[in-house]
Amino acid sequence: DLRFLAGRVEFENVHFGYVEGKEILHDVSFTAMPGQTLALVGPSGSGKSTIVRLLFRFYDVWGGCIRIDGQDISKAKQVSVRSHIGVVPQDTVLFNDTIRNNIRYGRIDATNEEVIEAAMTANIHDRILTFPDGYDTQVGERGLKLSGGEKQRVAIARTILKNPHIILFDEATSALDTKTERKIQASLAKVCANRTTIIVAHRLSTIVKADQILVIREGRVVERGRHEQL
Ligand code: ATP
Ligand code: MG
Repeated sequence: DLRFLAGRVEFENVHFGYVEGKEILHDVSFTAMPGQTLALVGPSGSGKSTIVRLLFRFYDVWGGCIRIDGQDISKAKQVSVRSHIGVVPQDTVLFNDTIRNNIRYGRIDATNEEVIEAAMTANIHDRILTFPDGYDTQVGERGLKLSGGEKQRVAIARTILKNPHIILFDEATSALDTKTERKIQASLAKVCANRTTIIVAHRLSTIVKADQILVIREGRVVERGRHEQL
């Protein structure tokens, strides 16, 4: 199993493709540091989500190496790698269950106090209290429908409970209203402190705040630096 100390992520000359003979990522190298935010930007199909999937150990690399705190993740169990990584996907799918169980999914031992604290940090607590049954409200088909931004904040609350060293956040491509966007960014800022954060970024406001930006084009890192340098 992997032993994590800090959550430093290193890609070293990574090559990868989904189909034999068709390489998608070519020689990708970068380091993401604990306490910092790395933003991945680039056109659709350039390989941003592929980078995130490789770190979550969905696939093995063709060449090069991915390390967390110096340890090669291909030599560790998938569950071990994943236990240290929190993911907030682009389109969060919630379960047909109560909002409480949706938040503590993966941490079913969490107390009500912990669930509420996570929801507060994720800026979703006040919204939950507006529902007739509060945290016991059913979500989904038979229950209430949440907006995309609200679902993403539920996913952030879930990630807070998981308390991982590394956070992967795939920003929604669809337009969110400014108020929702601010709420998500404010909650994310709280969660990401002292962790390694990798964001697939579509919003300029996210990119401006990042400590490091990688511009990905056709599976290569074509530029890197801070916003004012690019
Ligand atoms: P977007 O901004 O649209 O989300 P992206 O930069 O995240 O794009 P990826 O999803 O990483 O792009 O895809 C990179 C390339 O890999 C694309 O050409 C895509 O068609 C291909 N690809 C992605 N997933 C698979 C898969 N499961 N099987 C085969 N090819 C895939
Ligand atoms: Mg993508």
